[in-house]
Amino acid sequence: MSPLDPWLLQSSVWRCVEHLAAGEPVPHPIAVELHLGTTCNLACPECVSRPTLDTATFEPDRALGVARELASTGVRCVVLSGGGEPLLHPSAAGVMESLHDAGVSLGLVTNGTLLHLHLQTVASCAARIRVSVDAATAATYDRFRPQRGGGSSFQRVLRNLERIAPLAHDRLTYSFVLLTRQAGVGAPVDSNAADLAEAAGLAKSLGCAAFEVGIGLDARLQPAPSHAHVSSLLSDQLHAALQCADNDFRVFVDPMVADLAAGRGLREFPARGYARCPAAQIRALVGPRGVSLCPRHQCLPRAIYGDPCVTPLREIWGGTAFQAAIARVDPRSDCTGACMSMQLNDQLLCAVDWLRTHGAAPPLTDDHDLFM
Ligand code: SF4
Repeated sequence: MSPLDPWLLQSSVWRCVEHLAAGEPVPHPIAVELHLGTTCNLACPECVSRPTLDTATFEPDRALGVARELASTGVRCVVLSGGGEPLLHPSAAGVMESLHDAGVSLGLVTNGTLLHLHLQTVASCAARIRVSVDAATAATYDRFRPQRGGGSSFQRVLRNLERIAPLAHDRLTYSFVLLTRQAGVGAPVDSNAADLAEAAGLAKSLGCAAFEVGIGLDARLQPAPSHAHVSSLLSDQLHAALQCADNDFRVFVDPMVADLAAGRGLREFPARGYARCPAAQIRALVGPRGVSLCPRHQCLPRAIYGDPCVTPLREIWGGTAFQAAIARVDPRSDCTGACMSMQLNDQLLCAVDWLRTHGAAPPLTDDHDLFM
């Protein structure tokens, strides 16, 4: 038995590991986070995409072209998310259908406000659907996820979850990110923590298959220091939320949230110990602001290596700019705070070591889940 994570042993992933172990460029990413635009209909004060909101969008035809090129280039998994609300883009349905028809695994991260416009498409095309709610009551939702221009979207989001659940129960996740805010030292702390247990029960009653608890980040992309003030409240809430779990309803808790609830304090994300990011060779951000090593670095010019608004993706990944960007970004200094690939990088580096030591591949499996 190989000690490697089974996820690494999927054929497409292992081919990338072989390139990395040989010191060769990976020909193209196999997974992409796709942003169609940067517009959102909510105005969440803690949104990590605030610096790039309303800055760019793909023309409708180009968005469809990008979807076709992702599939034809060999990308196997696409998560349509971030940078704004993906379902606001006029080509969202066409992009989802095109990727699904080409056999690309599709994930969708959405605020849920527009799901009613795309119920059938989302249900038939998306292998994973994560709806960001972060609340169980309209009062909390409206403080942390206010609608742009005023009003509340909370009831609409709940109705949309209820409508899509029968069509996509096993793929539907209610996402709850722990949010706290404090105007200054000694000022009162506002938080959504008191909603956590009720949100888990709500997610289950609406027909979601999973409830995911994440940690809110500040501008440094570290857990907000004000989270420390809700530790004991969080402990009771998390305990009650976990009571909702059963065979049909899973509850996932970020280890940092679990630590905080257990009184182990608030940890920060550690510095990276590697000079090149292997994950950036196998996953990328594609959006109207450019193709970049990862979502975290969509504003870092040296991490951006092509403009998909005007250049075909095959050309971007086939040229030298891709590897030049990998060489320019040093995670030890450029990548403080959170990123989606920290755990993936640890796994990839472990697999590279394993392959260099053993010299041959372990038994592999067909691709079954390329979401990272
Ligand atoms: S932020 Fe993370 S994914 Fe991006 S280059 Fe750094 S280590 Fe890699």
